[in-house]
Amino acid sequence: MTFALQGIGASKGIAIGKVHAIERTQPEVLEYALPRKFVRSEIARYRRALASAKAELRAVKQKIPESAASDVAAFIDTHLLMLEDSVLTSAPIDIIRQRHCNAEWALRMQRDEVVGVFEAMDDEYLRTRKDDVDHVVNRVLRALLKPAKSTKKARARSLKGRVVFADDLTPADTVLMQHQGVSAVVTDFGGPHSHTAILANSLGIPAVVGLHAAWHYLRDDELVIVDGRQGVVIVEPTDAMIRFYRKRQREIARYRGARQKLRKAAAVTVDGEPVGLQANVELPEDIKAATQMGAEGVGLYRTEFLFMNRERPPDEEEQYQTYAKVVKALRGAPVTIRTMDLGADKQVDGARPGAPATTNPALGVRAIRLCLKEPQLFVPQVRAILRASAHGPIRLMIPMLSSVQELSQVTDIIKQCRIELRNQSVEYDEAIKIGAMIEVPAAALCADQFARAVDFLSIGTNDLIQYTIAVDRVDDEVNYLYDPLHPAVLKLIQITIGAGRKAGIPVAMCGEMAGDSRYVRLLLGMGLREFSVHPNALLEVKQIINESRIDRISQLTRRIIRTVTPSRRAALVDEMNQLDGPKIW
Ligand code: PEP
Ligand code: MG
Repeated sequence: MTFALQGIGASKGIAIGKVHAIERTQPEVLEYALPRKFVRSEIARYRRALASAKAELRAVKQKIPESAASDVAAFIDTHLLMLEDSVLTSAPIDIIRQRHCNAEWALRMQRDEVVGVFEAMDDEYLRTRKDDVDHVVNRVLRALLKPAKSTKKARARSLKGRVVFADDLTPADTVLMQHQGVSAVVTDFGGPHSHTAILANSLGIPAVVGLHAAWHYLRDDELVIVDGRQGVVIVEPTDAMIRFYRKRQREIARYRGARQKLRKAAAVTVDGEPVGLQANVELPEDIKAATQMGAEGVGLYRTEFLFMNRERPPDEEEQYQTYAKVVKALRGAPVTIRTMDLGADKQVDGARPGAPATTNPALGVRAIRLCLKEPQLFVPQVRAILRASAHGPIRLMIPMLSSVQELSQVTDIIKQCRIELRNQSVEYDEAIKIGAMIEVPAAALCADQFARAVDFLSIGTNDLIQYTIAVDRVDDEVNYLYDPLHPAVLKLIQITIGAGRKAGIPVAMCGEMAGDSRYVRLLLGMGLREFSVHPNALLEVKQIINESRIDRISQLTRRIIRTVTPSRRAALVDEMNQLDGPKIW
């Protein structure tokens, strides 16, 4: 029987393929053949995972309230003991040695053997112990699957063309699946900003998330169509549906093919309005992808990734080397370096040992607040950015500002750093531009004050939407409220663009909204002329810009902003996107 399931469109594209359902309670494990030289490091990786699983369990034990029954601790102790048993400490290692396989597979083989023994037992109690084995094994598996580094080079068993259904996917799963050529991923959990969604987008895999009940309706090998734009999964489609979607796949492929020719083209509307189009990057290695896609520069370099997954923050010299590398790699194209935005959704290991627990981390000490509180963390970064500016055009950008007073504290620190560098005869760009991110409603409402105090503004819609609508950007349960077209959001964007224009300074947008094909024309209509987007979105955004006419868009823009009903607003945006012929966005 044909039927459709509605989830959240997380990564666009259409896939037609057979279901590969991943067992709900067990992380998916595939066997990889390891070259002999990797066996030792694979064993080391397994040992690290065991240690990490133990550390996790110990931490869990610490959190058991004193009022809890002693059974709870005993349960954890049993698991800890299992982690120290040779069944898990040496048998899987023997398997890795013998089969030259990945640690996950060795562990899974060992698990099957142990569970088989338990299942063969008559004793009901002992039979249920197999659940304990699974709990422990899954914990180690998760520890193994998190980094997934040493399996990078391994040869994967094929899932080619399959539509993978899972309750949730780790980032490593998603990456491995992309390597194997899955045609789409569908998950029970997750929202449009979940790891699965972000990774699927980056990797170009169509994805539907938040399809809560999917498992109850699907079987392995069933044929499905996935529409990652609309968030729809069609199960057992009719021939007519398959024909329709195949045609659509061809149209999309043609449209995407056409945009490949735009790498070297300028972004300019049909009526001759030039638009700046830059890329967002997180790691120096991303620069290559950005320039390959024809980015005119980097509009957002998120430096916090340099601070994550390590015990100590990088010192000034390490940061200087990294930023200088980025600037040099850009060969004269500008880069906007954002000072660290740590805290809330971007936690850092050991960032603030002893800091009090907080119930609202997104409203707490994050980003520039952390930097102002901990100058020993901030000053080396400012100095490193200034020093790197001697090698090419850098703009320095401050995240999460909520008042101009905060901004002047920051500019005082920058001034002080400049004086020190000058006294030390260290070179830097005297004309370096300083900009403010507008991502807090208070800052948007006071955009005129900011615009008078800085050289440029950049709208961070990811946070601006979160704070304006009071909807946690990473909480799946409220993501239905996360709406870039909310009139309040549009008004704040308008205020910011207007303030920049009045002060004669550029206003960019570097939040996800800028790279979302649905909103490009609307933003053009609102007067935005600088976009900074994920490298993967760059050509599509350019294609849309180059097919747009500002004069045709402007009138509809005013209507959209005035429209109260969300469905009507979305329909008008669709209408705008279909101006001058149907487009596949
Ligand atoms: C934003 O908030 O829109 C933004 C670009 O910053 P981040 O996503 O890194 O918080
Ligand atoms: Mg932000």
